[in-house]
Amino acid sequence: MKTILYPGSFDPVTNGHLDITKRASRIFDKVVIAVAMNAEKDPLFTPPERIEMLQEVVRRLELGNVEVSMFDGLLVNALAQFQASAVIRGLRAVSDFEYEFQMALMNRELNDKCETLFMMPSPEYSFVSSRLIKEIARCGGDINPFVPPFVADCIRDKFSKH
Ligand code: ADP
Repeated sequence: MKTILYPGSFDPVTNGHLDITKRASRIFDKVVIAVAMNAEKDPLFTPPERIEMLQEVVRRLELGNVEVSMFDGLLVNALAQFQASAVIRGLRAVSDFEYEFQMALMNRELNDKCETLFMMPSPEYSFVSSRLIKEIARCGGDINPFVPPFVADCIRDKFSKH
């Protein structure tokens, strides 16, 4: 049974993350989306809120072999915790490459067994990022094309309370 770990902040989950998740779920027996507890200094959503959104969208997509969880601390330790064979990361553009390359090699330095696999999303998601979605929503723009409807509602809710 091959389990793959898909780590990130997911603040919030976007259609780009879901594109990668769907592709990975077709290849591996199990995909664990792991929300990093300590990744961002000033997140819009708390880790439990991010997990709830992920769980809801995964449930609606009927992705039976995808689980949502969280991890704290080093990714290499999370790999063992979830008994995962490798880490999956999305590569949107060359600009992602340098950071991802450095992180993948550092993780392997920390644990020789920590392999990182990269997947490219569909081009229509290659310019989507959680950071830009938040920026657009903050300025009152239309985020519907970039996130699932449930997530769009959560973002609008958040900004209406801010
Ligand atoms: P982090 O906070 O770890 O940078 P994110 O939560 O933003 O990560 O994203 C988690 C992973 O998903 C990263 O590998 C990132 O490159 C990838 N990703 C983010 N947005 C997209 C997208 N639109 N298409 C494909 N992959 C994406």
